[in-house]
Amino acid sequence: MRLDKLLANTGFGSRKEVKKMLKKGGVTIDGVTVKDGKAHVDPEKEEVAVFGDVLAYREFIYLMMNKPQGVISATEDRSEQTVVSLLEEEDAILEPFPVGRLDKDTIGLMLLTNDGKLAHQLTSPKKKVRKLYTATIERPLQDEEAEKLRTGVTLDDGYETKPATVEIEGEEDTKIRIGITEGKFHQVKRMFEAVGHKVIFLKRDTIGPLKLDETLEPGTYRELTDEELAALR
Ligand code: URA
Repeated sequence: MRLDKLLANTGFGSRKEVKKMLKKGGVTIDGVTVKDGKAHVDPEKEEVAVFGDVLAYREFIYLMMNKPQGVISATEDRSEQTVVSLLEEEDAILEPFPVGRLDKDTIGLMLLTNDGKLAHQLTSPKKKVRKLYTATIERPLQDEEAEKLRTGVTLDDGYETKPATVEIEGEEDTKIRIGITEGKFHQVKRMFEAVGHKVIFLKRDTIGPLKLDETLEPGTYRELTDEELAALR
């Protein structure tokens, strides 16, 4: 890629600022000063340094966020706060996007990455990646209703849901762990509606093998560990 683009993308300033830096002779590729921003560089193979500081280049970024309520799972929006707007500049610069969607009022595990291939693998219905949610409903769930959710229900648009896992938790039978392999719009809420229940709180706990780090406060995030990433691939 072009040297000036690489430097701008990794947070060294605007293209104009980068140009100045280059002109001053502050940039080296494998120890050789390069003043032309159009020069081609392979950041995976060549060492780029700026005034002696070696550039830590990474192509991909993988972030786990505990999505808070009131924030939409989009990259940008005119009027709403987005999950991407919660990122530090140094992470946002790599242009991660949310993998799949959570409603504005849903909290919990949100994966953000710029790795389109992984995002596709995790969201493609064909891959059947299980997402586990904790739903709180207003009234206790009856066993036969849980069974219907497990086998499949008909949503308001006529869609028949695939088998789900359902476990009733908590003493009041209003806290339900539900696992689905699909991602239709408002799916969990609509599944409960199909059996006469209203979801009043929804949290995503897992995406496939990836579990929400419960030490993350809502609105905060961290990079995936190497193990977490390996398990997702
Ligand atoms: N299902 C929903 O209804 N909402 C979400 O945010 C995620 C799954």
